Amino acid sequence: AIAATSPAALRASRLAYARVILPVALTLSAVLLLVVLRQARQQRSMPSALRVGLMRGEFHLVYQPIVDLRTGHWVGAEALMRWTRHTGESIRPDLFIPVAEEAGLSGAITRHLIQLAGRDLRAALSAPPDFYLALNPAAPDLHDPTLAEALSRLVAQMRATPGQVTLEVTEHALTEEADARSVVSDLRKSGMRVAIDDFGTGFSNLSRLESLQLDVLKIDKSFIDPIGQGAATSQVVLHIISMARALGLKLIAEGVETQAQAEFLRAQGVEFAQGWLFDRPMKADDLLRALASRAAPDA
Ligand code: C2E
Ligand code: CA
Ligand code: CA
Repeated sequence: AIAATSPAALRASRLAYARVILPVALTLSAVLLLVVLRQARQQRSMPSALRVGLMRGEFHLVYQPIVDLRTGHWVGAEALMRWTRHTGESIRPDLFIPVAEEAGLSGAITRHLIQLAGRDLRAALSAPPDFYLALNPAAPDLHDPTLAEALSRLVAQMRATPGQVTLEVTEHALTEEADARSVVSDLRKSGMRVAIDDFGTGFSNLSRLESLQLDVLKIDKSFIDPIGQGAATSQVVLHIISMARALGLKLIAEGVETQAQAEFLRAQGVEFAQGWLFDRPMKADDLLRALASRAAPDA
């Protein structure tokens, strides 16, 4: 042991440390650091991924036509948000919207939604004056005083009238009675229309619905699915239809996938529908092409 600590041996070991061990150790820790950083980035929580996504422009809209059940003609389209991360991963809106709401980011999402729609549909709604755009503002944004202003800018951009914009509001977004009434009536005063979305999944009763003064009721897909599967299950849908009648509301059936469902709904006098049976949500370009050909005079 004493021999090993001779000055020559010490120099040699110091040299080995400086030439071999130190660089190897440094390289290893750099690699380790990179791995840890990369993992941290991957595990970054969804709220910060949403923030980054908004900055990087990772969101776009697709549009699903709403059809007249009697004629099959498009009467409007609902804008639905899509998020494709820079990693290539797609995240569904029913996953990221609730996270955005929770993280206080829904305002940014809704502003972005309005921006995207304005970019997509610039001047597109002047030619088909009876065609409307349906938007889903996030629940907390209904109480945002800047929403109305952003929407009227959108109306101008699309060269539309306020009546060509429908806001789809869920029952659960309208839980605070007095507040909800004023939000809905403000929107309607400005000429826009208000639809109650996912109807049947919340707790609205007839008198509450009446007090809200809505325009359209969208029957949730969960009540459309059972149609044609058995007698008992279609009862709820009949109840919803008669409720809408009593209130003078137009009806849109959501998630219509089969001919049998469409026929049943048509027979019950439901005016409009949306679903894969008719059209899947499409890129803005495809919607614009269809709108342009619609606006062209018949040959
Ligand atoms: P929602 O507003 O009820 O939208 C209807 C959903 O049903 C859409 O799903 C649409 O793609 C889907 N759908 C339409 N027809 C059919 C069909 O025949 N079969 C089936 N299986 N599905 C059909 P999507 O686009 O994944 O959106 C899910 C939900 O995420 C929406 O439900 C809405 O609550 C929310 N969402 C989507 N875009 C936005 C947005 O821009 N802002 C906000 N706040 N929420 C949004
Ligand atoms: Ca909707
Ligand atoms: Ca819905």
